[in-house]
Amino acid sequence: RTVYVNGQYLPEAEASLSIFDRAVLFADAVYEVAAVIDGALVDYPAHQQRLARSLKELGIPLPVDPDALLDIHHELLRKNALTEGLIYLQVSRGCADRNFLMPHKATPSLVLFTQAMPLLDTVAATNGLRVISRPDMRWGRRDIKTTQLLFASMMKTEAVAAGVDDVWLHEQGMVTEASSSNAHIINDAGVLVTRPLSNEILHGITRAAVLDYAAESGMQVEQRTFSLEEAKTAREAFITSATAFVTPVVEIDGVAIGTGRPGPATQRLRELYILRSRSTHGG
Ligand code: PMP
Repeated sequence: RTVYVNGQYLPEAEASLSIFDRAVLFADAVYEVAAVIDGALVDYPAHQQRLARSLKELGIPLPVDPDALLDIHHELLRKNALTEGLIYLQVSRGCADRNFLMPHKATPSLVLFTQAMPLLDTVAATNGLRVISRPDMRWGRRDIKTTQLLFASMMKTEAVAAGVDDVWLHEQGMVTEASSSNAHIINDAGVLVTRPLSNEILHGITRAAVLDYAAESGMQVEQRTFSLEEAKTAREAFITSATAFVTPVVEIDGVAIGTGRPGPATQRLRELYILRSRSTHGG
């Protein structure tokens, strides 16, 4: 695999980041993951807007101009002949002696790599996911997409050790997110219920697109907090992320959701999302 690090395309074995990079010492870095289908980027402009926002929140400059960044994406996809999978981008503040005080003048590091993987045809999409709930103990700025992912990684690992696929995190019983995706339910009235945007959740690019597509297709959408209890009695549940698209959730804490099989509205939203992503990619 060819990867990109600070201006160079290199074989992955030759690519490296300094041990003094603040990504390593403080998770002082932000990232984006975009899907690639049919060799093309999905929803690239939205990912770039969120990247810009994350960088602004942390006061890290983007080390290349936006046009050059898109060229790097295209070049990396081409070099790796990627047709289906993901492209990962990380910007860190750069190198400095270890100090909690952020350096004024550091040169940001830019890293990109691709990962080939099936996204369209997956076991999770066919069978749905089983999740367990856990208290959300992450920090309070989940709207900034930082590489500080340890709690989510611990919870994902705990879920798999418990024999299920993932966690749904909650604060005082109100669902926040899954370990690496946004959480949604569809109630008996056919209303899509999802937590509103705030500092408590990542502003998912897939979430935003799916809410638009759902509304356009005549589905009612309610942005409000919802409890684990409400989720367990919902007709359908699903998660969204750049690489999961729309993936059904069929069980929460051992309780079957709806029929215990992927629901029809969720499946329709997944199909709609994929159809739209394929027709609008022009990144
Ligand atoms: N929430 C969290 C915590 C995530 O890590 C992700 C994916 N990185 C998402 C939501 C989904 O965001 P997106 O649709 O932009 O991939």
